Amino acid sequence: MKFGGTSVANYDAITRMISIVRGRLDEKPVVVVSALSKVTDLLYKISDEAALRNRAGAMELLGQLRKRHLDLADELMPDSPEECRDAKEKINGICDSLVSFVDAVCAVGELSPRSKAIIISNGEYLSSNVICCAMNASGIRTNYIDARRMIVTDDDYLKGEPDMEAISDKVPGVVLGAYEYADAVITQGFVSATASGEPTVLGRGGSDYSASLIGMAIDATRIEIWTDVDGVRTADPRRVDNTKCLDRISFEEAAEMAHFGAKVLHPLTIEPAVRKNIPIYVLNSMNPEGQGTAILQSSFIEDGVKSVSCKENILVINIFSTKMINTSGFLKKVFAIFSEYKVSVDLISTSEANISVTVDASQDIRGVVGTLSEFAEVYVDSDKSQVSVIGKNIVNLKGLLEQTFAPLRDCRIYMISQGASYVNISFVVDRSALTDVVRQIHKYLFEV
Ligand code: ADP
Ligand code: ASP
Ligand code: MG
Repeated sequence: MKFGGTSVANYDAITRMISIVRGRLDEKPVVVVSALSKVTDLLYKISDEAALRNRAGAMELLGQLRKRHLDLADELMPDSPEECRDAKEKINGICDSLVSFVDAVCAVGELSPRSKAIIISNGEYLSSNVICCAMNASGIRTNYIDARRMIVTDDDYLKGEPDMEAISDKVPGVVLGAYEYADAVITQGFVSATASGEPTVLGRGGSDYSASLIGMAIDATRIEIWTDVDGVRTADPRRVDNTKCLDRISFEEAAEMAHFGAKVLHPLTIEPAVRKNIPIYVLNSMNPEGQGTAILQSSFIEDGVKSVSCKENILVINIFSTKMINTSGFLKKVFAIFSEYKVSVDLISTSEANISVTVDASQDIRGVVGTLSEFAEVYVDSDKSQVSVIGKNIVNLKGLLEQTFAPLRDCRIYMISQGASYVNISFVVDRSALTDVVRQIHKYLFEV
């Protein structure tokens, strides 16, 4: 059971969360929590201030962090002085260490990815400690697990790649051990460590991924992602009105939606669940009675269009070279460069002497562009967005392309890519046109 930031944001949310967990105790849940809402953003800010050697600024923010958690402990455990004291000792311990660490970063004025991973992982340590105490105070005997004992990654500190074998090896023993004399166990999402124990994290939004890695490793009967919407919807409800909740979608559809911008799931969440065919349920912690969305094996899912997703800020890299014409090995050379610089590509389209690819704008593409420019002309288009229409076998649906593009007569489309997976048709538009495009397509596909 994974609870995201808004599902553990404050007293009300945590009280609801504890009651949801209480209803599942028969099934021995592993509870995975994110940092309280906005806390990871605050920790990023703290690390930025430290890198700028703005000690006063960083300390001010650290003060806010400590106060928010101490106040929360008071609110959650007014009648349990022992658990409340325990929680406050842990909060103060974590915050004291963080203050010393940030002090050292300010003194050196240098923030390595390794140091940043240490700073930003503290949100989950704070939330999991407070919630563990609050669960005990509420009568649920809860044991605490440090995720770094079991979620093993490589040394990409800010976006660790999980070592599936090591995780499958470690998690069951750690969870079983923690379950001795306990009704529930709790651990942190997002945080991980290398095989030698150096702290890493799984990347923004990575708590979903933590939950599915743990679910895979213990052969869970299901993975529950508790969040702030009623399930996976036909589009992002923050961008489009009248979206509908989807009862069930396939692993492939969910993976494509997450990869192509639906923030409700971390893009890599699906893969560990697929390995063991474990259903994932996306549920609303503010409406626990709702049925949410079930993410299941494809054979249980009907064909048809399920959602329109988008990535607001992407770059289109256009690579021109006459050397490409009638030669083999050119594409290999190009993509080896993307791989070398660890830049992940979303869409690809090629013509006789041109390759266009899209990448998320958050990635650093300077190395790729520099190296490609040694043998090709390279132009990068920024301020572009990517729209994806997703659904099982949509490519075979009669009239779907017509329906998708009909509302876009006046809109410039830069690139179109239809995945061989039969699940996804994507295209690139100007960023300024995005919201309008997504709303129009949604209206045409889902609101008639
Ligand atoms: P959490 O903190 O629980 O992990 P997130 O903010 O990461 O929550 O994800 C939930 C949010 O994802 C929703 O509030 C919603 O705005 C957004 N979202 C984007 N696309 C979709 C979609 N297709 N269905 C549901 N929610 C979506
Ligand atoms: N707290 C982390 C983040 O905000 C991980 C998560 O919430 O999934 O990115
Ligand atoms: Mg999330």
